[in-house]
Amino acid sequence: MADEIYTDVAIVGGGPASLTAAIQLVRNGIELKLISDDIGGKIKNANLIENLVGFPKGISGEDYVKILKQQFTNSKIPMIKGIVEEIKQFRERFIVKTAKQKIVSNHVVVGTGSIPIKMNIENEEEAHSKKNLFYENYIARNHVKGKTVIIVGSGDVAYDYAMNLKEKANHISIVQRSGKARCIPILRDRVSRQTNISVLTNIGPGKIKFEGKRIILSAKRDERIIPLMTDVILVAIGREPNIRVLSPELLEAYEKDEDVPNIYYVGDVKKGNFRQVSIAMGDGMNAAMEIVKKTTEEEGNYGITREVW
Ligand SMILES: Cc1cc2nc3c(=O)[nH]c(=O)nc-3n(C[C@H](O)[C@H](O)[C@H](O)COP(=O)(O)OP(=O)(O)OC[C@H]3O[C@@H](n4cnc5c(N)ncnc54)[C@H](O)[C@@H]3O)c2cc1C
Repeated sequence: MADEIYTDVAIVGGGPASLTAAIQLVRNGIELKLISDDIGGKIKNANLIENLVGFPKGISGEDYVKILKQQFTNSKIPMIKGIVEEIKQFRERFIVKTAKQKIVSNHVVVGTGSIPIKMNIENEEEAHSKKNLFYENYIARNHVKGKTVIIVGSGDVAYDYAMNLKEKANHISIVQRSGKARCIPILRDRVSRQTNISVLTNIGPGKIKFEGKRIILSAKRDERIIPLMTDVILVAIGREPNIRVLSPELLEAYEKDEDVPNIYYVGDVKKGNFRQVSIAMGDGMNAAMEIVKKTTEEEGNYGITREVW
């Protein structure tokens, strides 16, 4: 039988959104458990973060995650390491289920981030299981040394991935459906200056074929099939909120934008959110302050929040 753990706040996820909420709640002496399979979240994919105040020269995603891990340790955030299988509401409370524990809480902060969108083309799953196709850069970069790489996508993430892998990979082709990049101009310009990155426009992925250890992406331009031979494909065609853990009732409320008291969606999982670290952190802080305010009211202080710095 699963261990039953009671806490005031359950925070699901270990990315910037959840960590911000957790740090602020710990400082307020509010009881919590952070349940996550990692600390740092998806920013470890980033080549260079240049829009975070406090890092005048920018910082790589990898180095930034090291700082987050340090702050997590220093803040003494109580963590349950594991994968959450389900979050559901039970009367006034929430139940967060992992394989081993059942965490019962008064509030729940959901910071599960986003998941990559798949291409849904023939042999995609098989190529993924054979380690020829990836969705996350931090995994792909262990498999690209001296190899040819196709990155499918035309946005910030696709161009950031290309800049990240250019030293390791032999050659990178960015394959995009549209005629021009949808990323920020600074990234497009950097990519255009690289000798080992080319951009193929107006091409949509058709299907994948295997040829020994390599793969062929048969891409389509108008009605013409263009076979593109490569070692690795990295898919960067978009991401969507990671809401797989929500019970059917909570999922319905999320989809309909219905307010469920005491559940807070923070960061990339929030419907319609712009996916940026500072926004995720703002959401996390906001959720924490709302919880502090409610807790203070319940303590009889009639809505006067504690003074917190
Ligand atoms: C290539 C790339 C470059 C980027 N560059 C920038 C940039 O330059 N500047 C910027 O501001 N933003 C950038 N971003 C966006 C940034 O990474 C996100 O906005 C940010 O990470 C969102 O934080 P989050 O806490 O909401 O989610 P995430 O960072 O995605 O964290 C989600 C957390 O939830 C955990 N989790 C998920 N499901 C479960 C589960 N079932 N059980 C337990 N734990 C779970 C995960 O392990 C993870 O710890 C970039 C993103 C990418 C992919």
